Amino acid sequence: MFLSPFGLQRAMKVKRAAKYGFCSGVRIADLKVKRFAAKGGRGAILGQVVHNERVVEEMEQLGVRTVNEIGAVEEPTIVFSAHGVPPSFHDTARGRGLEILDTTCKFVYDIHRESKQALAAGDHLVFIGDPKHREVIGYTNDLEPSSYHIVSTIEEAESIDWTPYTRIKIFYQTTLNSEEFEDVVRIIERRAGTVERGDTICYATKENQDAARVLAHDPEVDVIVVIGGTKSANTKHLWDICRETKPAYLVQGASDLDPAWLAGANVIGLTAGSSTPDYVIDEVEQALAAM
Ligand code: SF4
Repeated sequence: MFLSPFGLQRAMKVKRAAKYGFCSGVRIADLKVKRFAAKGGRGAILGQVVHNERVVEEMEQLGVRTVNEIGAVEEPTIVFSAHGVPPSFHDTARGRGLEILDTTCKFVYDIHRESKQALAAGDHLVFIGDPKHREVIGYTNDLEPSSYHIVSTIEEAESIDWTPYTRIKIFYQTTLNSEEFEDVVRIIERRAGTVERGDTICYATKENQDAARVLAHDPEVDVIVVIGGTKSANTKHLWDICRETKPAYLVQGASDLDPAWLAGANVIGLTAGSSTPDYVIDEVEQALAAM
């Protein structure tokens, strides 16, 4: 609440982006693990099931802990996250006698399938993305190193001699904004032979990003709060989009909110990464409304 010039209290308004929060892939992964736990299943998730610390805590409360390597699984079932894993991980898990609960997103599996087909057709593969991201590791870990490149910056694209590659197929990490990597892809297109771009940006990410851009340009909105996990790439992208235009703050939940950010603001914009559960978004909105 703020005092108006006439001494009356007026409420801050919270305006949500037109599209935000859980995407279909994460919603399905979350549901699959919850159903498994509700039936008394005992399992461990390899890496965070989705990049959100609150979801990880929730899973642990349900008895499904998070581990960082297959060897650390003591339960009968291993859960593979929405980001997917290298195909060899399935063999390793089975070899250790583990059941697999696979929550890999359909769109991630599309890239696994298409990259395999491109490789079989003789293409050199280029993945635009973060080499440390689990999704990208899933695509590349089992490949012959000479069969692919992972590129994310103009400097990297410039430093590679593309001339030996007569046919290249480009895949984007699903959560990227392809426009931001246009210059990187153009360098490859100028220097290699035939270059084909895969249409692999996830629609859910793009919709959240487009809606964040609209929110950031909304003249009514003074400040934006972006909700999501600290390891979530798509949440960071949303934050970057918002703070290009407006003061924007990244929080994991209501307890991270700082009232000082909102001083003088009338309308607070709200958006959330695709791994942020609905209840966290509601909590933050309620906390903002109460400030
Ligand atoms: S962001 Fe897209 S690709 Fe990633 S899990 Fe969600 S729906 Fe799947």
